[in-house]
Amino acid sequence: MSVADTKAFPAVMPTYARTDLSFDRGEGVYLYGSDGRRYMDFMGGIAVSALGHSHPKLVNALTEQAKRVWHVSNIFRIPEGERLAKRLTDATFADTVFFTNSGAEAMECGIKLVRKYHSHNGHPERYRIITFEGAFHGRTLATIAAGGQKKHLDGFGPKVDGFDQVPFGDHKALEAAIGPATAAILIEPIQGEGGIRPVPTQCLRGLRELCDKHGLLLFFDEIQTGMGRTGRLFAHEWAGVTPDVMTIAKAIGGGFPLGACLATAKAAAGMVAGTHGSTYGGNPLAMACGNAVLDVMLQPGFFDHVQQVASHLKQQLEGIVARHPDVFEEVRGQGMILGLKCKLPQNDVGNALRAHGLLTVNAGDNVVRLLPPLIATAKEIAEGCAIVEAAATELSQKSRKTG
Ligand SMILES: *Cc1c(COP(=O)(O)O)cnc(C)c1O
Repeated sequence: MSVADTKAFPAVMPTYARTDLSFDRGEGVYLYGSDGRRYMDFMGGIAVSALGHSHPKLVNALTEQAKRVWHVSNIFRIPEGERLAKRLTDATFADTVFFTNSGAEAMECGIKLVRKYHSHNGHPERYRIITFEGAFHGRTLATIAAGGQKKHLDGFGPKVDGFDQVPFGDHKALEAAIGPATAAILIEPIQGEGGIRPVPTQCLRGLRELCDKHGLLLFFDEIQTGMGRTGRLFAHEWAGVTPDVMTIAKAIGGGFPLGACLATAKAAAGMVAGTHGSTYGGNPLAMACGNAVLDVMLQPGFFDHVQQVASHLKQQLEGIVARHPDVFEEVRGQGMILGLKCKLPQNDVGNALRAHGLLTVNAGDNVVRLLPPLIATAKEIAEGCAIVEAAATELSQKSRKTG
């Protein structure tokens, strides 16, 4: 590579095809672009900003903690973390929590925990995890192997061993894939990156039965679907079954990097001192944010609000899809994790929405994903839908002209 080429290479490694837009500040559902325009944020930094931007409770919690202590190490007790872990275990199936800085790290903890569980019980040969086509579990070496997507694996050397992928929604193939080395079944209750593909509740129940029958751990990745996104704290609550292991991240920190791996005491029995660690994971700043997010979400009526507003959103989107069948095919998803399956290329739709002032994010299967802040009011949802309608009308007219 010549000197000139080296100079031309971007200082920020170009692993993202970035939109040429940045933001000066955010408030609630709005982001203020450096282009001088105001945008409605219906992507929320990919399901992260569940409480919108600059939520006063979160700003206060973070700044107050920043004045006290930022970081100490997990060598010491972290009272804010003990409190958050207690609240998460009180609110879920789980007995214990490991904090991380990201979703992929939470996944790594879950994968290690699953393997350790069987090894601890005298079956180190049981280390394989069954995953589903279209899955997304992160970008580390193990999690790209779990996701199994060619575009994520290509060029990165041998795929980490221990993951067996089966087609989405094929119960027979799933049963056939269970063998003496199988340790767990890993699934997102709604595939997020895969195109907002919900797993029917009876299938989630079937997975629980299958795991119990074969002595496997059931592992839910609720990194995107969790923390109120579907109108309950976790998506699996709708199915009335609980996993043995669950990863969360994205919205739990409200924008501060935070993830966690939750597990039952039984599943985590092998995870004793020295088996796992993280320098930053669960540091006081992150814990202050996590606790503040829970303070807001666990207030009475919060999830009722999400369910109510989400049903308005879905209804309005269904109307738009019906009026613009040349642009959209269907609405998918549940609560505030919705996808518009597009007839036109998803980038054309996303660009039109942004030009009209609404930010969304692509998902697989030519789906445009909507992940509005859970605090959005019915009026704000209607405002967002009016933008979708306007963009769809323009796209319809354009596509008619070009035939
Ligand atoms: C975003 C996501 C991850 C990865 O989280 P990172 O914080 O990007 O590492 C894993 N699983 C699901 C379902 C996700 O949506």
